Amino acid sequence: MQKDCLFCQIIRGEKPADFLFKGESLVVFKDIYPEAPVHLLIVPRIHIRSINEVTDKDKEIISQMILKGQETAKDQGIAASGYKLLFNVERGGGQAIFHVHLHLLGGWR
Ligand code: AMP
Ligand code: ZN
Repeated sequence: MQKDCLFCQIIRGEKPADFLFKGESLVVFKDIYPEAPVHLLIVPRIHIRSINEVTDKDKEIISQMILKGQETAKDQGIAASGYKLLFNVERGGGQAIFHVHLHLLGGWR
């Protein structure tokens, strides 16, 4: 946990978010500026800056995030129509919040 990290603050309940899921190792909440009809963020409770920082010890949480994306897509009714699971990596890759997170985007007609 990092004191000044927005997503750590959201996970600790110090900042509001619209949660769909709160689990032992990860949470899912709505993106505040949605870029698709369904735009959710799958966020591990542990603070990892970006995909660049991920190591072998993080294999479990990264695979849990992807499986949660798959499950959430089904729950949202967008699995069959299709969706994107997206990691933005560092500033040049569009990352603005430096706590690793997986975007789930879908629901286009
Ligand atoms: P990224 O650009 O990959 O770092 O994605 C960060 C995402 O977090 C963006 O899509 C933002 O819209 C979203 N975001 C920023 N602040 C909040 C917040 N307080 N609650 C929910 N989502 C947020
Ligand atoms: Zn954090």
